[in-house]
Amino acid sequence: MNATIRADFPILSRKVYNRPLVYLDNAATVQKPRCVVEAISQEYYNSNANVHRGVHFLSQQATELHEAARERVRQFINARSTAEIIFTRGTTESLNLLATSAGEAFLKEGDEVVLSQMEHHSNIVPWQLLRDRKGIVIKVCPVTDEGSLDLVALTQLFTPRTRIVSLCHVSNVLGTVNPIREIAAMAHAHGALLCVDAAQSVPHRRVDVQALGCDFLAFSGHKTYGATGIGVLYGREDLLEQMPPYQGGGEMIARVSFERTTYEQLPYKFEAGTPDYVGSHALSVALDYIDSVGLDKIQAHEQQLTAYAIKRLSAINGLRIYGHTPERESVVSFNIAGIHPLDLGTLLDRLGIAIRTGHHCAQPLMTRFGVEGMARASVALYNTREEIDSLCESIERVKKMF
Ligand code: PLP
Repeated sequence: MNATIRADFPILSRKVYNRPLVYLDNAATVQKPRCVVEAISQEYYNSNANVHRGVHFLSQQATELHEAARERVRQFINARSTAEIIFTRGTTESLNLLATSAGEAFLKEGDEVVLSQMEHHSNIVPWQLLRDRKGIVIKVCPVTDEGSLDLVALTQLFTPRTRIVSLCHVSNVLGTVNPIREIAAMAHAHGALLCVDAAQSVPHRRVDVQALGCDFLAFSGHKTYGATGIGVLYGREDLLEQMPPYQGGGEMIARVSFERTTYEQLPYKFEAGTPDYVGSHALSVALDYIDSVGLDKIQAHEQQLTAYAIKRLSAINGLRIYGHTPERESVVSFNIAGIHPLDLGTLLDRLGIAIRTGHHCAQPLMTRFGVEGMARASVALYNTREEIDSLCESIERVKKMF
């Protein structure tokens, strides 16, 4: 599938430092297919106007594109209604919205939120802010040596005060796929709600919010072949109805007076200000693109490539891979004895290879594995075996320099 797919991504044929670009930083953000970039410029050239409030033609056209995008996202994750699809700036804003608003609606001092050691900072810090405001208690599910959630320990964290469990679907460091369906059943049996950080799953595997049984789910457009600046929070309608607005301003109100303001219906109650209507349309084009390639095909390709990367990287002397769970997605994090990950990343960059190094916004997980940072290679639908070969050969070259 690769030659035709790669042609859809013009940036992949550029050179860096006069070498062919090998882009393996896809967990941070993916490159955009031509159709997405064109959808953005076409909207600015042809249909640009502020949405919802305009009676004129362009405003109505932009509104139609924006609302059609909401329906497209609804279909993509199989939500029950577009009222359950809130557009945000990304996963981070989705999780902040949730912690703030659900925190206000459903949590009191002493209530408990369960997180895990493998969370991205964006699924930790918003809950800490809530802890500072409301005196809630954060409990943390440990991660095993192989990189899975310790499900026995998780069961033991539940108490009658547990209100929310918030976990990643796929770890952005270990690639671990968490058993969300099982955890949803566990949370619900204890009367708690489940929020899923799906930033690293929606681009790689079919995510069906009803089949998963989650109550909230967040993901980012820019990791899903869409533009930066758009994201989604899915929430069960009956829960969103009970939650107060996150931000105030235009678009989210029904009626304003200095004495009293009433709010718009869902999902607009949570969308203050001019939305990123170009980004939402571009996201729907990105989702169409994913479906035109086929998410099952994408997943199979990425999983084969990841398995190949693990095999090749494991053969490098002194290289340690973190995360050895049987079910995993397209991320491989590693360290090489005697080489700081930052030096490795910098030298690989000079050879045209883009990987990510550092704490990957998961410092508690770095602490868990006793390291300051890791190197991470992550693949997308357009990557090839040759690029993995190139990564491994370049690592061998860097090793010789030390
Ligand atoms: N959660 C996970 C698992 C991630 O990998 C990321 C980004 O890398 C985020 C949350 C934050 O996403 P964003 O920066 O798009 O808000």
